[in-house]
Amino acid sequence: MKHTELDITEQRNNLKQLIDTLERDQKLSSEEYALLIESRSAELSEYLFEKARRIREQHYGTDVYLRGLIEFTNYCKNDCYYCGIRRSNKNAARYRLTKEQILFCCEEGYRLGFRTFVLQGGEDGHFSDTVLIEIIRAIKSRFPDCAITLSIGERTAESYRAYYEAGAERYLLRHETADPDHYSKLHPESMTLASRKQCLWELKQIGYQVGCGFMVGSPGQTTAHLASDLIFLQELQPQMVGIGPFIPHHDTPFAKEPSGTAELTLFLLGLIRLMLPAVLLPATTALGTIDPMGREKGILAGGNVVMPNLSPRDVRDKYLLYDNKICTGDEAAECRHCIEGRMNRVGYQVVVARGDSKLINQESDGTRCPSETL
Ligand code: SAH
Repeated sequence: MKHTELDITEQRNNLKQLIDTLERDQKLSSEEYALLIESRSAELSEYLFEKARRIREQHYGTDVYLRGLIEFTNYCKNDCYYCGIRRSNKNAARYRLTKEQILFCCEEGYRLGFRTFVLQGGEDGHFSDTVLIEIIRAIKSRFPDCAITLSIGERTAESYRAYYEAGAERYLLRHETADPDHYSKLHPESMTLASRKQCLWELKQIGYQVGCGFMVGSPGQTTAHLASDLIFLQELQPQMVGIGPFIPHHDTPFAKEPSGTAELTLFLLGLIRLMLPAVLLPATTALGTIDPMGREKGILAGGNVVMPNLSPRDVRDKYLLYDNKICTGDEAAECRHCIEGRMNRVGYQVVVARGDSKLINQESDGTRCPSETL
């Protein structure tokens, strides 16, 4: 009996030491990540979150950056098994915003203190390079002090370069899972992890501040997969990482699959903050959907970004990637003020700033793709 208690104490101390090592070296092995994830406890999470908060405060104080999310199209040529706006979902009511509608969202966002606009959408051929470049230029000339982030999936390096030259500086492209077999369980054959990763390396090389990320608890995900995700972050050294729990959508092949948990998502946020101390880490809408206090908890686990919705109210209930999405009935101003209150109540404050990464691309920091990962 005594012996067992000693063993348990020793294991607890070993796990804390692993977290100390991650803080010191900003990296661990895949086996070590897996061990931490498998053996996590409430006590270990608190130990991790305290360090994560200290590190985020060293880099960003208690500031929380706002990103105004503009969901400008829900047409998509892809058929990802998890996503509510997949091509095969005939029940999705499709919409596109015009350039004028997008600019109107930015106008409203600017008034509310947003200095970053995130244009997110399905992979929609209607938005050709010409159309997108015109939109990017229009936003940039009207709001020169704002950053534009694109989140529009896989395009050619040539297109990415053209958007960058037009004024887009950041790009979000979640890798979804860093394990090729798992990737093929979440996507049809036409989509590959290799192509997704190649896009990320190209974006980085062009000079974008790049965000990758993954869903937590997606169908078929194992601890080993999550460890691969963390190792991929170590290699790519992205400026932003978006993670959130998988949540089923009733009109997809994964309708009956269980959601991911807030608890595991938070633990991973903490690990990511230790691995990438200056990373821009959002407490996502999916996290706020699965847990009513999810976004506050995400900030307390090391997050420093929130992405309230700036989409026009009449399209919000059409950009449904998963069920029960929060804030679909709110006006932009309501979301903005709601978030401000939520952050204040946990000791942080939203700021009017572009909120650039403090980690800028350099040749030596992993901008180049190590050939074995492609
Ligand atoms: N078409 C763009 C934007 C995708 S939507 C692209 O390909 O990058 C943004 C993210 O929402 C996706 O990358 C995915 O990780 C997440 N998402 C999609 N369906 C989801 C679901 N059912 N539950 C949780 N997150 C989901």
